[in-house]
Amino acid sequence: MLDATNLLSDVFGFDAFRPGQAEIVEAVCKGENTLAIMPTGGGKSLCFQLPALYRDGLTVVISPLIALMRDQVRALKAAGVCAGCLTSGNTEEESDEVFAALRAGELKLLYLAPERLAKTATQDMLRRAGVTMIAVDEAHCVSQWGHDFRPDYLRIGQLRQSLNVPLAAFTATADTETQAEIVTRLFDGVQPTTFLHGFDRPNLNLAFMAKNTPRKQILDFADARRGQSGIVYCGTRNKTESLARALQQDRHSACFYHGGMDPDDRREVEARFSREDGLIVVATIAFGMGVDKPDVRWVAHADLPKSIEGYYQEIGRAGRDGAPADTLTLYAADDIRYRRQQIDEGLADVERKTADHARLNALLGLAEALKCRREKLLGYFGETDITCGNCDLCETPPATFDGTVHVRKALSAILRTQAWFGAGHLIDILRGTRTDKIEQRGHDQLPTFGCGQDLDKREWQAVFRQMMGHDLIRPDPARHGALYMTDAARPILKDEATITLRRDTIVKGTNRPKVRTLVSDEDAPLLSALKAKRRAYAEAQGVPAYIIFNDKALIEMAEKRPTDLDAFARISGVGAKKLESFGKGFLEVINGAETGDVHPARRKLATGQNGGLYDRLMEVQTDLARGPDGYDKPISCSASLLAKVADLKPRDHNAMARLLGERRADRFADAFLKVLEDG
Ligand code: ADP
Ligand code: ZN
Repeated sequence: MLDATNLLSDVFGFDAFRPGQAEIVEAVCKGENTLAIMPTGGGKSLCFQLPALYRDGLTVVISPLIALMRDQVRALKAAGVCAGCLTSGNTEEESDEVFAALRAGELKLLYLAPERLAKTATQDMLRRAGVTMIAVDEAHCVSQWGHDFRPDYLRIGQLRQSLNVPLAAFTATADTETQAEIVTRLFDGVQPTTFLHGFDRPNLNLAFMAKNTPRKQILDFADARRGQSGIVYCGTRNKTESLARALQQDRHSACFYHGGMDPDDRREVEARFSREDGLIVVATIAFGMGVDKPDVRWVAHADLPKSIEGYYQEIGRAGRDGAPADTLTLYAADDIRYRRQQIDEGLADVERKTADHARLNALLGLAEALKCRREKLLGYFGETDITCGNCDLCETPPATFDGTVHVRKALSAILRTQAWFGAGHLIDILRGTRTDKIEQRGHDQLPTFGCGQDLDKREWQAVFRQMMGHDLIRPDPARHGALYMTDAARPILKDEATITLRRDTIVKGTNRPKVRTLVSDEDAPLLSALKAKRRAYAEAQGVPAYIIFNDKALIEMAEKRPTDLDAFARISGVGAKKLESFGKGFLEVINGAETGDVHPARRKLATGQNGGLYDRLMEVQTDLARGPDGYDKPISCSASLLAKVADLKPRDHNAMARLLGERRADRFADAFLKVLEDG
């Protein structure tokens, strides 16, 4: 695998494989049939691009989306690789160039739209072209049951047979039915070497909030991330338009996207999103598979997604470059009602509906979770042994209370009114509110009337929402959404089980969230300067900014501040070609910004002993910024904090923790203590 590792650094500029990549790359290089299931952003493309370079001959890549293919080809070319694509979007010159490279035997990767496979001419061309491997991206498109089904994908199996070359299939869809279908259709039912990879995306921050002032909640979230690219998913087309307008009025660069738009307009939005830095797209889930932008910094759900799989896929569009990214999902009792109704009123058979309810339940369990969301999310995908510290519940554990008695009272109100009413009326009964409706129906005579005055109306609403979230009650589609009790609630009613509820899911949205930045305050000005430089290059070449360098690379530049080309080459994402094209330009920005611009905290320590200590502490912290393995959430100490460490020289872990705080101490204390010990 020696050459493969060289290719990784020389061509792609990465110094290590991501978890799981090495094994896949090895199998594909060896020419095995492979199926790799990797989460979005896991780095699938590298797993066929690198083997394509490693192996002799041409690799054909089948991918469902033109924009995505063109992006990858552009990125490969920027890295000095001979690649091309044949799609309906090609200009004549582009196609001529591809054919010329093919004839010259220079082409290493040829991206093909699946529609092309329908043409005999294409099949003939491929037979003559010296194809030695087929790679299939988004392999789940062969599944006739999935919503991404592409009939032309069914031709791939036959292409594999006629070319008689190994095939590597990639997808992020993990369910076993889809896997089985891929094996049947692409591999003739013979199980290929299969890799199922970690679904954790440690750089994504997970958060949920009950809707309170929903529009303001989204605007605040966007405001704290001003200038960063983001996606807001909405449940309806109308809402995408009105929310996009609200964001524009708030001086964001924002536009909307949904399936009802003209295809040209949709393409325009996709193109803008990939090209522009900092655009917000407010969209329905129609904005999906084509989104291949690695530097999406946040995803917000203005409405509850449909299922836990949908949620995972949608938040997965943030932070593919591995740099920190934030997600927020809003939900309310109405969303739950709406999603249940959608399933109940759909055309699927009973079995399917039951499964869909279960998927929604899994998501609701995540929304109403009492502990770490990541554990719950990944637990659903079968992963245990998870470290988080990057979700709202790990950051601020919720206040909880024993809600057994309240739930029982609510259930009893439902039973005594024969499950004919919604939450509003039931809450009136529980709170003993004499409305006309209550008096007309004689509900003030019920024993439950007024038995729940210890909670106010809002608190009761939160109890009902959580009861829906735990699937203790459901709206009845045959009774206009009146709530009925499910079997899951019986043990609580019968006093055989208890339930813990959250007290604080509805917070008053008064204080503005604090602004989220990607780097520490000291590095922020340099990061903006680097972004400006990147924008200049991108505009000059007419490509999206991330084709030049992704955010993660810029962040690393801002933090490590390489001083020469050698050091610059060690930044992740800098390969030989990019070093040559951009190294000098970016080094000028970095070192220009640094000369005479030492942080005041460092300057005060001057060059004395503490100054030296400071520099070594800084080095250690840079090495550990992403944890010992380089995959963790970046943490850093401010310059003045480091200066304090150098000055005060805490002696043990506790003293260090008092100075740094728990989180930083966890990561840095031992290493800092060692620096201080060594003097
Ligand atoms: P997906 O699995 O969703 O197709 P991509 O192939 O687009 O993901 O990769 C996501 C991002 O991860 C890209 O920006 C890519 O450059 C980056 N990446 C892939 N492999 C590595 C690696 N070994 N080290 C660092 N970054 C990587
Ligand atoms: Zn957590």
